[in-house]
Amino acid sequence: MRVVVDQDLCGTSGQCVLTLPGTFRQRESDGVAEVCVATVPQALHAAVKLAASQCPVAAIRVIESDAGDDEPGSADPPPSPLEAERHAARDQRHPGGHDGTV
Ligand code: SF4
Repeated sequence: MRVVVDQDLCGTSGQCVLTLPGTFRQRESDGVAEVCVATVPQALHAAVKLAASQCPVAAIRVIESDAGDDEPGSADPPPSPLEAERHAARDQRHPGGHDGTV
């Protein structure tokens, strides 16, 4: 998950910085909030969503995908072609109707 601040909208209240100082910071020159992480750690997803919902001018946008290449080891290998196995192994013959009941 990523998070961005629309710096044209930011009202410099500093609320997000107070809530998550490791994720947001304010520029010293004008107080506009910036994001200081490339991707949001899983443990902070809920807190970042809360901060976004509490921004008084809705300047914080949460992006659910990790579009960057900062996330190591996130690619799964493709599955092996086991599905190509033949289904002939199961030869269940029950020619029937003979259940032994009287
Ligand atoms: S809470 Fe919103 S308006 Fe306040 S500093 Fe953060 S992004 Fe800017």
